[in-house]
Amino acid sequence: MAIIKLENLSKTYSSQVEEVQALKNINLTIDKGDFIVVNGPSGSGKSTLLNLLAGIDEASLGDIQINNISLSSLSDRERTELRRNKIGLVFQYFELIPVLTAWENVEYPLLLQKVSKSERRRKVDRILEQVGLSKMAQRLPSQLSGGQKQRVAIARALVTDPEIVLADEPTGNLDTKTGEKIIELMLNLNREYNVAFVIVTHDLFVNKYAQKLIEIQDGILKIKEVNEYA
Ligand code: ADP
Ligand code: ADP
Repeated sequence: MAIIKLENLSKTYSSQVEEVQALKNINLTIDKGDFIVVNGPSGSGKSTLLNLLAGIDEASLGDIQINNISLSSLSDRERTELRRNKIGLVFQYFELIPVLTAWENVEYPLLLQKVSKSERRRKVDRILEQVGLSKMAQRLPSQLSGGQKQRVAIARALVTDPEIVLADEPTGNLDTKTGEKIIELMLNLNREYNVAFVIVTHDLFVNKYAQKLIEIQDGILKIKEVNEYA
């Protein structure tokens, strides 16, 4: 079942001096439970794609549908709401709030959704346990290793039960061994919750985990490989 559909999507950045066509006529369907890895050299359009998927930026041409709803038909507020409820984000530099504990960082998106206190407790405890961080719950980000910070960020992305998690270079700031553990954690969560992942990465080791491997070059998207897991 398709969660996100990109149809003839193009993005052009214009300035006084030049026009850059960052994405050229992209077509892509993301299904429930997909595990998609996106490769591509610097400047190829990867961040642009993530920003469009996340509803952070708008396409120049073409359409994005989330659960059959066209993003362009929504107001800014409705788009923000949709993003909050359906999409989790994970970043290279974790983007945790430094003055909040690991527990409070994970709780934060539930506060925005006005989830009750007892429900917040239940959900945060559960997801922190699942990412293996129950014992670190009361630490501040500065008291955690890089791998642990990324686990907190993954818990924060998943605590709202999104349909899709978008990850921008999630292993880019970790050593290879820690990075592999992070990708394996994502794969486990993907299988357990049937949540789709789109992982943009330069780290070639990530490719072997891909169910769909995608490459972007000069704004053109190619599906390189599709593996059906047993
Ligand atoms: P990647 O994430 O693969 O490095 P980007 O999506 O950031 O690539 O960039 C794709 C192209 O669009 C590049 O040529 C980049 O210079 C250009 N670009 C990205 N963002 C902007 C912007 N805000 N204004 C103008 N050009 C941009
Ligand atoms: P990573 O590769 O995940 O960044 P490190 O090699 O930095 O991990 O850390 C290894 C272990 O040391 C971590 O699992 C963590 O338990 C501990 N550790 C690292 N930094 C800190 C810190 N600032 N405060 C507390 N524990 C830490």
